This record gives sequence, structure tokens and C-alpha cells, in this order.
Amino acid sequence: MQPKELSIVCPLYNEQANIARFLARIEAVMAGLDMTYEIICVNDGSTDHTLARLLDAKGDYPRLRIINLSRNFGKEAALTAGLDYSTGGIIIPIDADLQDPPELIPELIAEWKKGFDVVLAKRVDRNADSFLKKTTANLFYRFHNRISATRIPDNCGDFRLITRQVAEAVRQLPENQRFMKGVFAWVGFRISAVEYSRESRAAGYSKFGFWKLWNFALDGITSFSTAPLRIWLYIGFIVAALSFSYGGFIVVRTLVYGVDVPGYASLLTSILFLGGVQLISIGVLGEYLGRVYMEVKGRPSYIVDREL
Ligand code: UDP
Ligand code: MG
Repeated sequence: MQPKELSIVCPLYNEQANIARFLARIEAVMAGLDMTYEIICVNDGSTDHTLARLLDAKGDYPRLRIINLSRNFGKEAALTAGLDYSTGGIIIPIDADLQDPPELIPELIAEWKKGFDVVLAKRVDRNADSFLKKTTANLFYRFHNRISATRIPDNCGDFRLITRQVAEAVRQLPENQRFMKGVFAWVGFRISAVEYSRESRAAGYSKFGFWKLWNFALDGITSFSTAPLRIWLYIGFIVAALSFSYGGFIVVRTLVYGVDVPGYASLLTSILFLGGVQLISIGVLGEYLGRVYMEVKGRPSYIVDREL
């Protein structure tokens, strides 16, 4: 296969209602650019008619390549598959729900031509997102960037332009549970950004509910920081120092005022409190151990059924 100048990589999970509009808008934009390109649609185990719709579109869009995964592996894995199959000198990952406007592609390319390796698409207007999503996303970026050495640019999704060199750097990372935003930021290179306002989903429903976003945030934090593990060292020191001083206080008080029997409430409170603190710290250990366990098995992040 002849390598193309541009690969557009799109993960799809139950997006049957968006495919026709998505491809039409991409083609309209690409018609204005003088570039060879391919559209790689990764069907991430959709349970609706996504695959059928993609196959229908193949007649009209010869540049469409369909990578069918054997089941739903999640967006990060689908994107990884898309990167692995892409041939483009530059690659643009994009969502199928048209929340990432294809009309921004020429701007991304113009910025790349100035000599950047990564051009981020930054959402300046997230009014289309719910209040809950906006605030939790903000909190996540602030917390993550505070405790991790890898800074994730805030308000950027996976919609961006990367060069082949950046894509190869990402592909070389051996981890199979990839937090894409994080690994893209981790590899570095010359980065620029263009701004856009995020629209609402064209059709269908978001695949990221609250619980999934929460787990996604935990994945992100544990992938790029060990601060949650290290903090227990300090909490332990503080609790030990406080207990020690309190012990000293009790000894002195007993020497001065004699033995004091009541103390049931303080005893129970401290036992329960410390029990809780210990459970939290074991939970954090478990979180990291779980990640080590998943990685050490060395399973691939996705399995391809076939390319169509
Ligand atoms: N997606 C996927 N696999 C999944 C979940 C989502 O490939 O398990 C795709 C989905 O089809 C869409 C993109 O990832 O193209 C972003 O998903 P969504 O729009 O649901 O996320 P949101 O924009 O709400 O964060
Ligand atoms: Mg979306």
C-alpha cells in the first residue's frame, strides 16, 4: 500500500447515525486540500449497524479503510489500532460524533506547516458539555497536572495533528493500557495549538458516563504519577508523630492527675479513623498493583477481526 500524506483516524462505537454525515463533512474539507489521504475507521465492537453503514459508505468513499476489532476494547485501544494501521506522514485522530469539527483540519495543517510536530485542538467553548462534565474535567486536569510530571494540556481531547515521528514514538511505548492524552503529552516534541468551540454530539449518546469518566481519571492519574503511593509515607509520619505526642500527653496527665478511666469515645474514634486511613492506603496500593498485574500479562491492547 502506498503511504498517504494524511491519515484521519476515527474510533467508532455505536455511531451508526453519525457515519454518513461524518464522512461527508470530512470529504468536503479534504476536497479543498491538495493532499493524498486515507480515512481509517476503527469499529470498536459496535453492537448497532455501524459496521454495515461503514461498508455501505465504502462504495462512495474509496479512501475509507475499515478496521474491525473483535469486540469493544475502549476508545484508547481503538485509537491505538488506528495509529498502528495508519500510513500517513501526518495523523489526525478525530471523534465520529462531529464534536470535533472536520472544518478545523485545514487550520491544523496550516499550523503544522509552520514547523510543529503536534498541533492541539483546544476547546475554548465547552458550553455544549454538561456542567458536571466541565467541572469534573477541570478538577481532573488541575489535580493531574499538580501531582504528575507530565503536564496534560487542559481542554484538549484526542483531536489533534501529530506527525509520523510522534506517532512512532507513541507506538514504541510498550504499555498496553494507554492513556492517550497522557502518552501524547509524555512524548513531547514541538507543540502548538489552535482553538475551536466544541459542538454537541450530532446524534447518538455519549459513551462516557460518570462512572466511566471516574475510572478514566484514575487510569490517567495512576499512569503518570506515583504521588498517590508516596503520600502515605507523609501521612504515616504525621499520624505517628501526632500519636506519639498524644501518648506523651497522656503519660504526663496520668502522673499529675492519676488514672482516668473514661475515654471510650476518643478510643473508638481513633481506631475507626486509623482503620479507614489504612483501608484507603491499601486501596491505593491495590490500584497500582492491579495496573502492574494487567501490564505484566502482556496482552495486546486490541485484537483485529479483519480489515475491510
Ligand atoms: N468510542 C470508541 N469506543 C468506546 C467508546 C467510545 O471507539 O468504547 C468512540 C466513540 O464512538 C466516539 C469517540 O470514541 O467516536 C468519543 O466518544 P464519545 O463521543 O462517547 O465521548 P465524549 O465526547 O462524550 O467524551
Ligand atoms: Mg463525543
